[in-house]
Amino acid sequence: MRNKLRLLTPGPTPLPEEVRLALAQDMVHHRKAGFKEVLHRVQEGLQWLFGTRQPVLPLTCSGSGAMNAALWNLFAPGERVLVVDAGKFGQRWGDIAQSRGLEITAIRLPWGVAVSPAQIQEALDNDPSIRGVLVQASETSTGVLHPIREIAEITKVRETLLVVDGISAVAISPCPMDDWGVDCLLTGSQKGLMLPPGLAFIALSPRAWNEVERHPCAVAYFDLLRERENCGKNQTLFTPAINLLNGLDVSLHLFRKQGLEEIFRKQWALTCMTRAGVQALGLDLMVKENYTWGLTSILLPQGMDGQRLLEIAARDYGVVMAGGQDHLKGRIVRLGHMGHVDFADILAGIYALRQSFKACGGHSGSRDYLEISLAAYQQALDHKT
Ligand SMILES: *Cc1c(COP(=O)(O)O)cnc(C)c1O
Repeated sequence: MRNKLRLLTPGPTPLPEEVRLALAQDMVHHRKAGFKEVLHRVQEGLQWLFGTRQPVLPLTCSGSGAMNAALWNLFAPGERVLVVDAGKFGQRWGDIAQSRGLEITAIRLPWGVAVSPAQIQEALDNDPSIRGVLVQASETSTGVLHPIREIAEITKVRETLLVVDGISAVAISPCPMDDWGVDCLLTGSQKGLMLPPGLAFIALSPRAWNEVERHPCAVAYFDLLRERENCGKNQTLFTPAINLLNGLDVSLHLFRKQGLEEIFRKQWALTCMTRAGVQALGLDLMVKENYTWGLTSILLPQGMDGQRLLEIAARDYGVVMAGGQDHLKGRIVRLGHMGHVDFADILAGIYALRQSFKACGGHSGSRDYLEISLAAYQQALDHKT
């Protein structure tokens, strides 16, 4: 029997049919009136989604491209940044900062732990030369949610820019850029936005733009000043991924029909549902507190072959989940619940997790695990905190 495939990975994520149809359209020319209208509409939608009055620049690249663009435009070689290194993507901040010739102070945390605002405060107090704090809103390699709002309280009263990789947070959990005082927020298309990979988006605060204007431009492809100029004319500097922007037009329309609060409420409920189901199966959650709303990381018992478990879930149940990265490879399962995913997908995911866990020699927990997870879902929908 061949099951329907369900992509429950923390990116890429499944697509709504409306978006897939938009992606399938024939090409239009990107400098003609019709497409300018699309760019204009998309710009308004992106500003709404990011919670900003500043332009949100679409870049044709994966999410890491926007991380690159941020550091190459905001800082000059020799300037010091504080990197929150709590997983694979925190490390990526460090790698990109190094490629830009920045001096790095790192807060290194065990995987699965969120940074505390006090740690940021201390680091900045110790070294007033730090010009930027680089952090993930959601560290996708572990499933941790960093306290962006509290960190912004610290950075906004100093001359320190807060640069946030929101790739697995935007359209998943709140990060209203202007309200919180985030200086740079960026994301990619294939996580929360219900799109394929290939687009990234970046917005800067007025004081971050001042920094960009202060530095000579270091890169031609990611020249944000020129992108901003083009954005003002409903254009992009280079040929954009036209079909992805058509898809974005549709996904933003779907989001706006729901409203931000509904989107976040659903994400929160899916998170509660997954966590309750996993615990009812007698499995351990990797992140006990400060967990992200877009994926759930599950610790496997010592000695179990996590790769095999994932293969069985995909082969026999059509459920594709992700494993761990680096030292967590084979040790954890990351079940993604971001993008176009609903409670029925999570039911299938938890069932597949249980069956493949048993096939790998695991014990099975409560027989009521599906009801327990559904009850948690309903309760979260009813009382969103
Ligand atoms: C997925 C992800 C990235 C990498 O994005 P790419 O599109 O693969 O370049 C970076 N940061 C976070 C938090 C992510 O979830």
